[in-house]
Amino acid sequence: MEVTRTRKGLRAFTAAQRAMRKAVGFVPTMGFFHEGHLSLIRRAREERGAVVVSIFVNPLQFGPSEDFGSYPRDLDRDLELAREAGADLVFAPEVDEMYPGGRPEITVDPGALGDRYEGASRPGHFRGVCTVVAKLFQTVGPSRAYFGEKDWQQLAVIRRMVADLAFPIDVAGCPIVREPDGLAMSSRNVYLSPDERSAALSLSRGLLAAVGRLAAGERSSAALEAAIAETVDAERLVDLDYAAVVDAETFDEVEEVARPARALVAARVGKPRLIDNMLLDPAVGENGPDMGTGAS
Ligand code: AMP
Repeated sequence: MEVTRTRKGLRAFTAAQRAMRKAVGFVPTMGFFHEGHLSLIRRAREERGAVVVSIFVNPLQFGPSEDFGSYPRDLDRDLELAREAGADLVFAPEVDEMYPGGRPEITVDPGALGDRYEGASRPGHFRGVCTVVAKLFQTVGPSRAYFGEKDWQQLAVIRRMVADLAFPIDVAGCPIVREPDGLAMSSRNVYLSPDERSAALSLSRGLLAAVGRLAAGERSSAALEAAIAETVDAERLVDLDYAAVVDAETFDEVEEVARPARALVAARVGKPRLIDNMLLDPAVGENGPDMGTGAS
């Protein structure tokens, strides 16, 4: 596995791969790897001739009061894990390398989808995400890029950007990887104290409560959202931001779950803000819920 800190090195590597007729798979990340990241890298390894992973904590997608400075980082460990998972190249630039002129003047507007839910709670977040991903796409030139369903709205925004700006890239959504007790894996989970760690389980429990209510016949989004909110609010250490049921394709709010929808939840648990989501499929009966990873 090779490692480069420069865009020039990245471009040279991917150009050489394409010259060898190898399709490039790309996995953009902020590092501090867990099994969720590694599942993306492994899938890229299975599906593509060359696998490029970026590790870059992107200041553009953090608000002024957010955790850019304290976001967990461990490059040496990440490099070892990326190598084991099958990466061919890791691109790990410094901020100056990605943004040599400081904050870019021209950025990618994520549109209305970028203003809702995560975008409403984190103004400018999706503009930062779209801008860095567009820049990475330009430099890597992958045929397919891999994103986790854990960040459901991010996946929707990226799909929309790729369609609207005609990037010749296939976007692959990958199922959420969870801890054995149901907590969605996240780099930010390391911030949790033992008490907060168990309180954080209320997010996946709340989502499962909604899945269970749906399987029992409940179709009202308001009732399903209430099931999530009640579960989360029962934990003193958890401060709910939103619980929402949206159309799985359009991301619009739905009144009734008549076709597959997505349940979303976001909450602050101590220091970190955590998000999770699950598939709400009205075709799945009482015995069916599968932790909501969905068909992907
Ligand atoms: P991050 O480093 O948090 O920006 O995440 C990099 C990529 O890994 C994104 O596409 C995430 O959606 C994905 N990812 C993060 N956590 C998980 C998880 N628990 N399961 C699946 N994918 C994940």
